[in-house]
Amino acid sequence: MTETDVRRGVVLITGGSRGIGAAAAVALAADGWDVGVNYRTRTDEAARVVKACEELGRRAIAVQADVTEADQIERLFDTVTAELGPIRAVINNAGIVSPSGRVAEYDAERLERVFRINSISAILVAGAAVRRMSTAYGGSGGVLVNVSSRAAVLGSAGEYVDYAASKAAVDALTVGLANEVSKEGVRVLGVRPGLIETEIHEEGRLERIGTTPPLGRPGKAEEVAEVIAFLASDGSSYMTGSTVDVAGGR
Ligand code: NDP
Repeated sequence: MTETDVRRGVVLITGGSRGIGAAAAVALAADGWDVGVNYRTRTDEAARVVKACEELGRRAIAVQADVTEADQIERLFDTVTAELGPIRAVINNAGIVSPSGRVAEYDAERLERVFRINSISAILVAGAAVRRMSTAYGGSGGVLVNVSSRAAVLGSAGEYVDYAASKAAVDALTVGLANEVSKEGVRVLGVRPGLIETEIHEEGRLERIGTTPPLGRPGKAEEVAEVIAFLASDGSSYMTGSTVDVAGGR
């Protein structure tokens, strides 16, 4: 990544300490954004992401917040706004996979946890983003990028059916919210990553799933991050309500 002289404004990324979120933070910094990096537990990793953004000549801060808690989402948005300025883009990225087994044997508590973070938190973060960016709330517009999953469309290779269903809610959020706020200066977009090499996959999962996409390999977080950076930029100015597959053809 190299520095740019372009200044685009402030972007907030949920789950920015690792994986796709961390790569998106660096790609967005390289593209001229000041970056609010949210994390839940990995303080050191978040600090490293902030440093990488600063080395690209941008301002960046790390903010600890659990986005399953509505009051923590509010504090997160308020902190980023107070420290960096008005938020012009939000990458709604935090999510989990939880080993699930057969649907017939699901545990309700685990299921609620998956939907809590992947679906409900994503909707709450989207609402918080709209309250900061929409002209209907005194904002001056912006872009929301929701991180869904190719599993939302394909199912999840014979397991993790709950995860796929929780991400289908994100796809519906992107379409529905775009209809709601497009006339208020907010564009709502999404990405559907395929299998991407990050810590979200427990040891051996990628090998076990064994589905090779047409491009012949799993993806890298940076390859999703580049698409997120494009969607957040003015280059996507005539797009809203769309979700882009970044899945190696899968
Ligand atoms: P990682 O497990 O590598 O990173 C997850 C990130 O989310 C971490 O930064 C983590 O923070 C954060 N996070 C988790 N729970 C919370 C929470 N409650 N509040 C705040 N932050 C939280 O995952 P990926 O980078 O692989 O995944 C990112 C997104 O991409 C997810 O939504 C995932 O579903 C989606 N995706 C990933 C695919 C893949 O193959 N990797 C495929 C399709 C979609 P911390 O480390 O500080 O705890």
